[in-house]
Amino acid sequence: MNNRREFLKTAGLATVAVAMGQNVMAAGTKSAAEKSTGKSLTLSKKKISVDDQWDVIVVGGGPGGCTAAISAAREGAKTLLIEAMGQLGGMGTSGMVPAWCPFSDKEKIIYRGLAEKIFTESKKGVPHERANKLDWVSINPEHLMSVYDKFVTESGAKVLFFSRLASVEMSANDTVDALIVANKAGLTAFKAKVYIDATGDGDLAAWAGASFKRGDENGVVQSSTMCFSFADVDSYNYINGPNLHTGNKNSPVFDAVKSGKYPLIDTHFCNNLIGPDVVQFNAGHLVNVDSTDPWALSQGMITGRQIAAQYLAAMQEVQPRTFGGSFLVKTGSLLGVRDSRRIEGDYIFTTEDWVQRRTFEDEIGRNNYYIDVHKANGHDKEAHYGHYKKGESHGIPYRCLTPKGLKNVLTAGRCISTDEDTFGSLRVMPPCLVTGEAAGMAAVHATKQSKNDVHKIDVQLLRKRLKEEGQYFL
Ligand SMILES: Cc1cc2nc3c(=O)[nH]c(=O)nc-3n(C[C@H](O)[C@H](O)[C@H](O)COP(=O)(O)OP(=O)(O)OC[C@H]3O[C@@H](n4cnc5c(N)ncnc54)[C@H](O)[C@@H]3O)c2cc1C
Repeated sequence: MNNRREFLKTAGLATVAVAMGQNVMAAGTKSAAEKSTGKSLTLSKKKISVDDQWDVIVVGGGPGGCTAAISAAREGAKTLLIEAMGQLGGMGTSGMVPAWCPFSDKEKIIYRGLAEKIFTESKKGVPHERANKLDWVSINPEHLMSVYDKFVTESGAKVLFFSRLASVEMSANDTVDALIVANKAGLTAFKAKVYIDATGDGDLAAWAGASFKRGDENGVVQSSTMCFSFADVDSYNYINGPNLHTGNKNSPVFDAVKSGKYPLIDTHFCNNLIGPDVVQFNAGHLVNVDSTDPWALSQGMITGRQIAAQYLAAMQEVQPRTFGGSFLVKTGSLLGVRDSRRIEGDYIFTTEDWVQRRTFEDEIGRNNYYIDVHKANGHDKEAHYGHYKKGESHGIPYRCLTPKGLKNVLTAGRCISTDEDTFGSLRVMPPCLVTGEAAGMAAVHATKQSKNDVHKIDVQLLRKRLKEEGQYFL
């Protein structure tokens, strides 16, 4: 077992997590399960069925994966979207994130194309929001799921739910041959010409051997959050009472935390009215959860639900008029994981690029979100880098979507190539929608122009097509 490919071939499904980047598991490092038992198993030879009818396969149906699939199908590719859950939308639906980060640069909408279309449609699920509001618009997750269903199916892309990428087969060091997917049919090999990794965690690219980084120099990632919602909230008091967000120094959440009676909660307390008498929360933190470790994720779900229950008890005590009659109606089906693998691309978007508001010859979209880091030093980073002023934004290079060393793989969404700090900016949903649309279109161009090599497409043609579809960049 002297190189990472050899390791991938021989280790089988039990130990597919391999990486070459700094501060990550090195090739041959044992998975979490192996670490706990000290044992491993080589799978016996097993024939599985092959579905090779696809041009483009997207794995992960979050914001990045949905726009990737829609865009690939719209561009003429036979497209399959594989999703582990039973609904599309990723963190915005299964993870119950309650609001869209800003879509505007305070002058105009800057995340356009499919991003704008999906955003506009999602607003129909929150009719209490101002029609022309562009920033921090609430999300009704049930409605947003149906928006993604509609856009993806109308594009002609096929969706396969309850199906999880479990392993990657290579035909050459730089070429993915097939994806091994586990679902109720057992294991199936799915083949396409080009693959898009929109898993958030970068599972596909990492298992294909791409290098990546995760978290800071010690591998510590941003905190996760279990989002949740309360029903039967007194909307009148919620709207007219004190602002609960910690931007308000008189928020009652400070009293709740100070009381010491609710040891799992903290002052991270974002909240949005998502419908009549229903408030959804992005609140609390689970520190340094490794989302590629299923044991850590499992514990995160359990603790996350306990945190949600403590917030309810705390709010019933400190804001009885608003929350006295309310109950915890839903917690996320996915843990709200902010930070995971950043797959190294032909270009790594840097903090200097963000600070300089750089424009790139190969940019496929713009972004202006601040460097939003959920760690003990997060507020220092926000203060240090500041926020963009009115009208300011930076470009997102296409090269951040093309994993180094892999010919027929693209990334979309939060696993694209950035440094640690700019990840805090590019990880949020509007830019994820934008990178997805570009990746989907680029995948199709690679099948037509460059024998599936995503590094060799005509990027200016890609930009022209994206502009024709309404995307905004310089
Ligand atoms: C707590 C929290 C609060 C946030 N707040 C905001 C906010 O207010 N506004 C905002 O705009 N953004 C916010 N974000 C950021 C944003 O929601 C995510 O970064 C964004 O959804 C990432 O999109 P994505 O498509 O890359 O991945 P995700 O949304 O993570 O979706 C990935 C999808 O891939 C699937 N998947 C993963 N692995 C596999 C596999 N092996 N096989 C098959 N399917 C797989 C998952 O089930 C999931 O559906 C927040 C994030 C968190 C966690």
